[in-house]
Amino acid sequence: MIDIRHLSKSFGNHKVLKDINFSVDKGEVVCIIGSSGSGKSTLLRCINLLEKPSGGQIIYNGKDILNNSNDLTNYRTKMGMVFQQFNLFSNLDVLDNCIVAQIKVLNRSKEQAKKIAMEYLEMVGMAQYINARPKQLSGGQKQRVAIARALSMNPDALLFDEPTSALDPEMVGEVLKVMKALANTGLTMLVVTHEMDFARSVADRVVFMDQGFILEEGKPEDIFNNPKEERTKEFLQLTI
Ligand code: ATP
Ligand code: MG
Repeated sequence: MIDIRHLSKSFGNHKVLKDINFSVDKGEVVCIIGSSGSGKSTLLRCINLLEKPSGGQIIYNGKDILNNSNDLTNYRTKMGMVFQQFNLFSNLDVLDNCIVAQIKVLNRSKEQAKKIAMEYLEMVGMAQYINARPKQLSGGQKQRVAIARALSMNPDALLFDEPTSALDPEMVGEVLKVMKALANTGLTMLVVTHEMDFARSVADRVVFMDQGFILEEGKPEDIFNNPKEERTKEFLQLTI
């Protein structure tokens, strides 16, 4: 579904992504792991074009979207994003958070948008909070709303950047549970995470990034039980 070829990204002279090649198939759950500064967030942000790649191609449904400016907006709406810091609109209640982009970007009617939002708010267990403002919610609740908001746009893939890293430990489980349920629905997911148990049990494939490269990728059992690269071994030893 998404095919990334020779993707690079520099900030000034700093090469943050160097010749990244990988693809994500429809329905696949790919977890991206690696140490701080290895380029994981930058890779996700390049994939949904929050950052402009410096070079390479992103082939989506057979088209290089970096060279097809007509398709850019459509592509962006197809790549949903869930951030570490939730990024909810603090001045809007839960329901409005979940409908505003549906109305403005997808031109859905308010009624239609509400119906779709309610479906996903129910899925994440937040339907009874539709009139709450983000500041009245716990971190875990905020993140579940952010997931419902992203799903309400009917993305082809959902990209998660450390969705549980800003949460108090007791709230990590409720968010991972929702993500696991989503993975089981066949949603295509790309998840940057430090939750190794999640990666091990939910990912179809694990990608290890190091210093702007994908150093190693494979099935979770291979990466976790039998890493080939010295750097992967070192990283996993530090995280266990
Ligand atoms: P972490 O685990 O800490 O989130 P990461 O793997 O997500 O790390 P990135 O945030 O992608 O790493 O950052 C990779 C490198 O790119 C870092 O050295 C960072 O300082 C640099 N970088 C990221 N964004 C920018 C930016 N907007 N301007 C300049 N440098 C940046
Ligand atoms: Mg990051």
